[in-house]
Amino acid sequence: MTPEQLLDGLLRGNAAAQRRAMAKAITLLESTRTDHRALADDLLTAMLPHTGKSFRLGISGVPGVGKSTFIEALGLYLIAQGHRVAVLTIDPSSTVSGGSILGDKTRMEFLSVHDQAYIRPSPSSGTLGGVAEKTRESMLVCEAAGYDVVIVETVGVGQSETAVANMTDMFVLLQLPNAGDDLQAIKKGVMEIADLVVINKADIDATAATRAQLQITSALQLLGMHGGAGHAHRNTEVWHPKVVQLSALLNQGVDAFWAAVCEFKALQTQNGRFAERRQHQALSWMWERIDAGLKQNFRAQPRVQTLLPQLSQQVATGQLAASTAARQLLGAYETKSQSAGLI
Ligand code: GDP
Repeated sequence: MTPEQLLDGLLRGNAAAQRRAMAKAITLLESTRTDHRALADDLLTAMLPHTGKSFRLGISGVPGVGKSTFIEALGLYLIAQGHRVAVLTIDPSSTVSGGSILGDKTRMEFLSVHDQAYIRPSPSSGTLGGVAEKTRESMLVCEAAGYDVVIVETVGVGQSETAVANMTDMFVLLQLPNAGDDLQAIKKGVMEIADLVVINKADIDATAATRAQLQITSALQLLGMHGGAGHAHRNTEVWHPKVVQLSALLNQGVDAFWAAVCEFKALQTQNGRFAERRQHQALSWMWERIDAGLKQNFRAQPRVQTLLPQLSQQVATGQLAASTAARQLLGAYETKSQSAGLI
């Protein structure tokens, strides 16, 4: 299929044709073959005018906190309200070990078979940067196909939370109703990037859930006071991260959660932060891919490959300063690139 045919399938296909086109488009975008890359770029360019209209929601939390139970409840709630919901995952464990924290078990039993939902597991190879790029591109496919809520889910390990926060309009952190968990999140700096914190499993212990809600609320206020939340803005009307309680299992609090999301979206649109965040994200994706591309190109240069082991050895044994070695390698790379007409 050509990129035009794929796009046509995404935009106009019947339900089955659209799913086929989505699968094909995502496979093309995930392909590492050089000849596929040009087609993938054509597809991205053709798709772009049809993207960007969804709400992009990031959801994170440690394994067992209830992410899939929550996303299933939320997804079904949103579909009942007339939305179409796509769920993409970034699972850093699958890129490192081939194993998966997000589970091989059937997750989201009802949502996964619903015709208004589309669920795609994490790409399972490559660096986190590479996986994040594939997920961002898959997100565009979902948007072109008319999914108006795209949920990007990740686990609370590694750097994947930052990656998800950097590709979504709102980042939500799921927590358990006990304080140890909060401290971990604060220490790792995840709390600072959360726009909303959900205390899940509030049905197990209402007192603990309320205590956690109060503690996290004051922790967020402190983080905000130090300017750590990154929400400082010239506009006076800024969002202050909220904490809500919920029971995903009993389907309690999902409506209040969504009301908070809508409130966030309205405020961010009104104060200009919504568009600003997306612009900032698009430019930083560009630079991230440039960095990755340059590094790959650098490592692939024969002269760099020849010099690298020897210089690395000298730096490791203290015979050569790290910065001198870096300059020599960059010098070798630049000379080579210039003669090859790359720079
Ligand atoms: P994930 O690893 O974050 O995706 O967590 P799961 O959604 O698989 O949930 C882990 C376990 O917690 C499952 O046994 C769920 O049934 C249970 N669970 C999830 N949400 C709740 C909740 O709100 N209350 C209670 N009591 N259990 C829950």
